[in-house]
Amino acid sequence: MPPATDSVLPEFAGLPRPVTRFAPSPTGYLHIGGARTALFNWLYAKHHGGTFLLRIEDTDRARSTDDAIAKILDGMAWLGLTADRPPLFQFARAPRHAEIAHRLLAEGKAYRCYATAEELEAMRAEQKEKGLPQRYDGRWRDRTDTPDLPFVVRLKSPQTGETLIADKVQGDVRQQNSELDDFVLLRSDGTPTYMLAVVVDDHDMGVTDVIRGDDHLTNTFRQLALIDALGWPRPVYAHVPMIHGPDGAKLSKRHGALGVEAYRDEMGILPEALENYLLRLGWAHGDTELVTRDEAVKLFDLDGVGRSPGRFDLKKLESVNAHYMKQADNGRLVELAAPRIADSIGRALTDSERNLLLRSMDELKPRAKNLNELAGSALFLVRNRPLPMDEAATKLLDPIGRALLADVRTALAAVADWEREALEAAAKSVAEGAGLGLGKVAGPLRAALTGQGNSPSVFAVMAALGRDESLGRIDDALGDKL
Ligand code: GLU
Repeated sequence: MPPATDSVLPEFAGLPRPVTRFAPSPTGYLHIGGARTALFNWLYAKHHGGTFLLRIEDTDRARSTDDAIAKILDGMAWLGLTADRPPLFQFARAPRHAEIAHRLLAEGKAYRCYATAEELEAMRAEQKEKGLPQRYDGRWRDRTDTPDLPFVVRLKSPQTGETLIADKVQGDVRQQNSELDDFVLLRSDGTPTYMLAVVVDDHDMGVTDVIRGDDHLTNTFRQLALIDALGWPRPVYAHVPMIHGPDGAKLSKRHGALGVEAYRDEMGILPEALENYLLRLGWAHGDTELVTRDEAVKLFDLDGVGRSPGRFDLKKLESVNAHYMKQADNGRLVELAAPRIADSIGRALTDSERNLLLRSMDELKPRAKNLNELAGSALFLVRNRPLPMDEAATKLLDPIGRALLADVRTALAAVADWEREALEAAAKSVAEGAGLGLGKVAGPLRAALTGQGNSPSVFAVMAALGRDESLGRIDDALGDKL
């Protein structure tokens, strides 16, 4: 076997530091907890002028799928969390992981353990009976015989002293080394364990700072034992508290959507809103709720990450999203809303309908919390005539409403310049003539123009629809009954 080398892989050599990484296991979607971990790693790297890397931990062959890899990459691209280098795929590096285990064996820092599964089971049963912690008891640690039987490779973990993690989020966390077990590095089929693969890959990618969920904190003690045995530099650690559901329990399927694509596709959330929300769920800078990406790059550091788990609050996410909807470029919102509208009406939008949508966007977007609401609120613009009337619209078009509408139609038809102010003035004159408030006149008009009791300003709607379409809709509502 060639001697193991300790240099960083050429494709990761000499990268600006700190070097962080996101290391998802591709067994499903990009979980929002994972997205937040990716975001923190990305922001930390950018804030300090470093590098953000991606590693796909695809060693679980039964559960890792190409589809899941594509979903993770897609979710990260949607959130704009691009890695500075192509991803490293962990499974392909199994020979390198094995090489390191064999090197530790050769150096006497690891050993072969021939204990069978039954033997280990019996060991654990005995420990349980005696009320002892159930862990490998080191029975092969000092043996030198090498029977011709299957074996695993275990690390000779330190048994005395203590290990300290100077965690950037959790503070100093200590563990007695007597609590460490001689954990497995290579399985009997020669495949590496997660513990070995992570340590070797982080080293070979030149990772300097490991920011991950605090569910990994206990693994870190083992990983440090391995890093020390290899004589490699210890990375800086930051273990970020998990995201919890509104009920305080760790976020799980029963709390609803977990994958970022559900927020994008099903809930119509904008990526900058999800990002802002996830940032604030675990990190704070005073009371600031709304933080753009540029501001976040300037402000983000690990000292702002809290130690207690954030609770996921859909209402808050929606209010952050409503804010970003208002800020969003109208053309972009047309692109995002158009497919949703097309789904509802069962056909694609024409160019002129897209233009109509664009002209109406200033009125529509402040009223929508998400893209679904935006698309829903725009349906009346593109529906085939005659428009369906909702209950409120039907009420507004009672005989009194229709009589008013007929008067307004006459006044509108006489407007020379079809724009908002002139249209409003025409409606006002009808209202005044009838001794009514403008609202009384606007109601039936709204019903006729939109088929709804609720909509943006009717005058803005008419300006966007244009003269012919507006008068045509009014005529539809008046029907042949007048
Ligand atoms: N693949 C691990 C996970 O998805 C992450 C490993 C790490 O961040 O060290 O939980």
